[in-house]
Amino acid sequence: MITITDDVFCYHCRRYHPAAEMTLVETKGAKRWRCRKSLEHGRTSPARRDDFGRLITEQNQRIRASSTAKTIPYCVKEMLGFGAASTRETA
Ligand SMILES: [Zn+2]
Repeated sequence: MITITDDVFCYHCRRYHPAAEMTLVETKGAKRWRCRKSLEHGRTSPARRDDFGRLITEQNQRIRASSTAKTIPYCVKEMLGFGAASTRETA
């Protein structure tokens, strides 16, 4: 039995998507897979995407450093648009 893995890890969403939805993009010399959805979001607001990308990179580094966090923290989900994306609530 051969197991074919069609899902590709999306560095933007930090989750797996079907390969058909993925695009290989080169960012600062590094090739990463991103889903079309995330690219479409980025196209609409490049400045925000850049800022967002930096945030995600920092977040990723933090997650990698701790190596204990296997699940996506809620704040990241919120940034990815799972919650109210544009409204920033300050407690
Ligand atoms: Zn994605």
